[in-house]
Amino acid sequence: MSQKVAGVKGMNDLLPGEIEIWQHVEAQARELFGRFGYGEIRTPMVEDTALFVRSVGEETDIVGKEMYTFNDKADRSLSLRPEGTAPAARAYIEHSIANQEPLTRWFYAGPMFRYERMKTGRYRQFYQIGAEAYGAKEGAQDVEMMDMVVQFLERLGLKDITLNINSLGDEVCRPTYHAKLVEYLQAHREALCGDCQKRMEKNPLRVLDCKNEKCQAIAAAGPNVLESLCEPCRAHFDDVQRKLTALGVRHVVNPRMVRGLDYYTRTVFEFIASHPALGTASTVGAGGRYDKLVKSLGGPDAPAVGFACGLDRLVLLLKESGQQFTVRPDVFVAVADAGSHDAALVLASRLRREGLRVEFDTRGGSLKSQMKRADKSSAEFTLVLGEAERTSGQAKLKPMAGGEPIPVALDEVARVVRERKVVSA
Ligand code: ATP
Ligand code: MG
Repeated sequence: MSQKVAGVKGMNDLLPGEIEIWQHVEAQARELFGRFGYGEIRTPMVEDTALFVRSVGEETDIVGKEMYTFNDKADRSLSLRPEGTAPAARAYIEHSIANQEPLTRWFYAGPMFRYERMKTGRYRQFYQIGAEAYGAKEGAQDVEMMDMVVQFLERLGLKDITLNINSLGDEVCRPTYHAKLVEYLQAHREALCGDCQKRMEKNPLRVLDCKNEKCQAIAAAGPNVLESLCEPCRAHFDDVQRKLTALGVRHVVNPRMVRGLDYYTRTVFEFIASHPALGTASTVGAGGRYDKLVKSLGGPDAPAVGFACGLDRLVLLLKESGQQFTVRPDVFVAVADAGSHDAALVLASRLRREGLRVEFDTRGGSLKSQMKRADKSSAEFTLVLGEAERTSGQAKLKPMAGGEPIPVALDEVARVVRERKVVSA
């Protein structure tokens, strides 16, 4: 026996039975994001490592610990993308989009890679659907984007998700907050984990999203970022809250939320689900404003805001919701005798061309075994094709849920099935 090769740890196969939920989520997002004027972008799965180091930040967990980095054959350092904002910003700069339009709305969907400790809702290849808006510094853009996520989650029928918001200030007031935070952390240095003792010097904000409980408790009692905001940042944050309220979007201000990436300025937000199925992986979507990122990557001075939703987690919630996503076949075409097999293949082909979902057992076999498969396939109707049907051009559609068989001419099958479906829908 040959040895089996297993899939890579933390990277999942998505198969029929589950994939329908993914397709549903993606279709809902595409349709809705289109309504908001977002155009789709697809960037490569791999980027120059420097892109993430310079944007997400060297001291973040994502870049410091979780990135899949390798050298290609020409010895360039490349990384599998751990997130979508930096690649989008790179593309925005590379294609000089700012010269073409003042306001740009993009969305993307695809896999991201992070070498994380796996558990429910936390994988090494996971999927995000996200959006970025470039060109508007106004709070209205932040709010429009949060509204889009709210409507997305609503459409999926997901409830009990809380929007948390905060403001991290800008280059004017962030240094004041940093100084206060460092002073406070210095006083608690001994109690912090080794990582945080280092973070404190290089990037003190990162201490606030350390997963260590002791560090979290210390951070929670520390200075409040909102109390350090300068006047323009304060006004921006007030505006965001006022507009959220005007839209009827419920939200909670959480001054401890900093997010795990360095590029954020001003508004940050997270959508947190309370369903036990997610355990500690409860954040289903997150984002914020990053007014300095595009410029810091060599682009124009373009303010921007973005978010990403974790599809794996949304799918976990939808699995729990009891909603049905699999689409049943319309007709199972069964063959009564071997001489009718080709005719059945032709019939199935024609019905598919006419728009029906058709199941057909290409292996042939006894009528009994085909009927078993028909049952299993959960097809709406079964149609048995034998010599009699071929000669008369007449057959019967047997409703699999029970009820009288419906006589039908063979060239009318698609029409009759469609009519019946409309009646029962
Ligand atoms: P967390 O705090 O859960 O680690 P994060 O702050 O690292 O999340 P972001 O980088 O903001 O996450 O990514 C946005 C969303 O992508 C998250 O809210 C989550 O839904 C999803 N996500 C992030 N990392 C993973 C992962 N390893 N597996 C599955 N989903 C993930
Ligand atoms: Mg993370």
